[in-house]
Amino acid sequence: MSEQLPDLSILRRCWSGYDDPATTHTVQVNGVKIGGSKPVIIAGPCAVESYEQTLNIARAVKAAGAHLLRGGAYKPRTSPHSFQGLGREALEILVAVRAETGLGFVTEVMDPRLVDLVAEHADMLQIGSRSMQNYPLLREVGRTDKPILLKRGWSSTLEEWLCSAEYVAMEGNRNIVLCERGIRASCHWSYARNVLDLNVIQPVRQATPLPVMVDPSHATGQWSLVGAMSQAALAAGSHGLLIEALAPEVCREDLLCDAEQGIPQDVLQEITRAAEKMDVSLPSGLRAAAKC
Ligand code: PEP
Ligand code: MN
Repeated sequence: MSEQLPDLSILRRCWSGYDDPATTHTVQVNGVKIGGSKPVIIAGPCAVESYEQTLNIARAVKAAGAHLLRGGAYKPRTSPHSFQGLGREALEILVAVRAETGLGFVTEVMDPRLVDLVAEHADMLQIGSRSMQNYPLLREVGRTDKPILLKRGWSSTLEEWLCSAEYVAMEGNRNIVLCERGIRASCHWSYARNVLDLNVIQPVRQATPLPVMVDPSHATGQWSLVGAMSQAALAAGSHGLLIEALAPEVCREDLLCDAEQGIPQDVLQEITRAAEKMDVSLPSGLRAAAKC
């Protein structure tokens, strides 16, 4: 017996409050448009570890052609004994680095009590994979005027992910970008950290007017896989990428968080060059690239 998958485009009608649910809603972050024809590359360290490290990475990220900076101030770590992030100090570092480089930044907020503080500093608020179903947090960020990067929970269905976006939108904040970051499967820490679910990109684009990005760093856990998965993600129709990158001349062994994931600057440059040739306003970035 054959089973048919549902037509998800029907769901687009449910997104009230968007100018035109038939087109992708664009989200502006510090003057950078996510959801337009150009893929947006957000890159930076897993965690902010010092002013100098963050400034060096930001300069490298900018020189490589990326558009926004990422960097964790509050880190969700499996072990409570691992580095938890520099907190408020990291937010101040990111603000200083933005003043120096002009790069807007996205950083994670995990605690509903810290939403106002993080929103005062950041250009975009990240809801991490572990927090995707923290409903009080979703409601709280929904009351801010900052764009939200909503990561997919690593075992969440598309429906659960979209319901989480709706929690944010219902409070009035419709500037939401979805981010696929890999789902947990049998590869876990064998050849990769997670499975990058590129299958989900087109259904997301059918089901919502929201832009969707891909994080190939947490999906793979391995920097050598990030270049190929970045290009694959854009070809699959992702509106952009969220990537962990290394500062030049840094020793990855010295990093306090996700040391194996950060890509060197030349790889980031290859990714941004490939991205520049793509038009992600069409369902598949690759089809557009093939035309040029
Ligand atoms: C991150 O982007 O820093 C992060 C912790 O990612 P995730 O929530 O996807 O694990
Ligand atoms: Mn990380």
